Amino acid sequence: MTKIVTRFAPSPTGYIHIGNVRSAIYPYLLAAKNNGTFILRIEDTDQNRYVEGATELIMDTLKWLGLDWNEGPEKGGDHGPYFQTERKTSYIEYAKKLIAEGRAYADPTDSETIEKYRKEDEAKKVPYLYRNHRPTETPEWQEGIPIRFKADPKPRDWHDEVMGDLHAGPEVQDDIILIKKDGLPTYNFAHIIDDHLMGCTHVMRGVEYLPSTPNYLALYEALDIEMPKLVSLPHILAPSGNKKLGKRDGAKSVTEYRKDGILAETMLNYLACLGWNDGTEQEIYSKQELISKFSLDRIQNSGARYDETKLLWMNGQWIRKIFTEQGVDTLYNKTAGFWPTEAENYPESYRKEVLSIIYDRLKEFSELPSMTSYFFKDPAINTEMLTSNKFLKNLSEQEIARLLNTTFTALQNTEWTEEKIQETLNDLLAKTEKKPAELFSLIRIAVSYAPFSPALNLTLKVLGKDVSLARINATKNAFLNDLQ
Ligand code: GLU
Repeated sequence: MTKIVTRFAPSPTGYIHIGNVRSAIYPYLLAAKNNGTFILRIEDTDQNRYVEGATELIMDTLKWLGLDWNEGPEKGGDHGPYFQTERKTSYIEYAKKLIAEGRAYADPTDSETIEKYRKEDEAKKVPYLYRNHRPTETPEWQEGIPIRFKADPKPRDWHDEVMGDLHAGPEVQDDIILIKKDGLPTYNFAHIIDDHLMGCTHVMRGVEYLPSTPNYLALYEALDIEMPKLVSLPHILAPSGNKKLGKRDGAKSVTEYRKDGILAETMLNYLACLGWNDGTEQEIYSKQELISKFSLDRIQNSGARYDETKLLWMNGQWIRKIFTEQGVDTLYNKTAGFWPTEAENYPESYRKEVLSIIYDRLKEFSELPSMTSYFFKDPAINTEMLTSNKFLKNLSEQEIARLLNTTFTALQNTEWTEEKIQETLNDLLAKTEKKPAELFSLIRIAVSYAPFSPALNLTLKVLGKDVSLARINATKNAFLNDLQ
């Protein structure tokens, strides 16, 4: 069996959207599953769209997701260089060969003339095809003159691993540009040469390349190159489901999701399942599971709907999974940079204790400051928040002060463990004859002034005895002062 060779071939344009990453995940999985080779190739021939630092961003994102390439920038390999701008001579060589064989020509036609042809065809209401304007005489090629393919328009049939058997008529085949004025190749030409020279067995890319495929088939034929397997990945659709996902549909770039604290595990899992499933109800997959279960025949051929709520849900699942299976230290290591500023004044061990009691409510790490600030900084006393709470509305201010006073005394004499604190809290219920919702809400708000917090005994335990008592006392005093 031939060894499977796949590639991810991004253009360094700076912005990594969800679809770009999915185009890296599937070829990675296919190669990893079959002990094949996954190549990273940087398609940097469009100088107008080039963004400084974009290649580094791509590599950093792939590393973050654990999509390690076997060949490519930084790694090297037998098929380099891996930047198209460094492969210029091979494109020229192949283009010249096509000229020699009468399958391509140097085309000196200037852009104004080309525009004129386009307008003429438009006026005549005929489809614009450059091959109808092919120059009768063409010069010897030299740098600075574009090279065009000489189309061989005819019906073409081919097989796509996802889309099935396809057919296109001659009307979509044209004299496409192979080499531009600046001496660099177009995507249309470069990828064919590179995939061939790099031994790619599968070309996996977005379905948007499908309309150009008949021209690619003509090029494979003219170059006598064996066509790799074509795998068109369906569009990712906007949440509404009726159009392709665009920047305006609320989907952030992968870099932004990462900044918000979406885990790499989640991103990989979510995007892999956006357009692929293994035929079961399973939703949470580790990288290893994806590798072992991935198969081309389960990639859907219709668009997959992007759903950010699901992404956040999945991130919550992954946070819990990592905590339970790998422990708090592993989860904690992934939270660097997300803690509130005041947390810097506290030891790691304390931050880990906080994480251990709040992780099961976290959806993304960017919530850490709002969810944990009261563990690191005394909250501002907000008597209004207490008195308007639905469980506390019927308590008089005097009663609030009295209950807090009783709580203070009982906790003062409590050994500071989860269990002992819980025992004291239970005793307090009996003693005050209050319902848990009432008494515990009161204490919870007095120590946190947060909309929600973990179980009360755990919150108190982590805050520590001194801090808990001081906060209960401060709130009690606020009510006493109000009474005076
Ligand atoms: N450079 C192309 C892009 O970024 C790659 C398409 C392909 O994978 O062939 O869309």
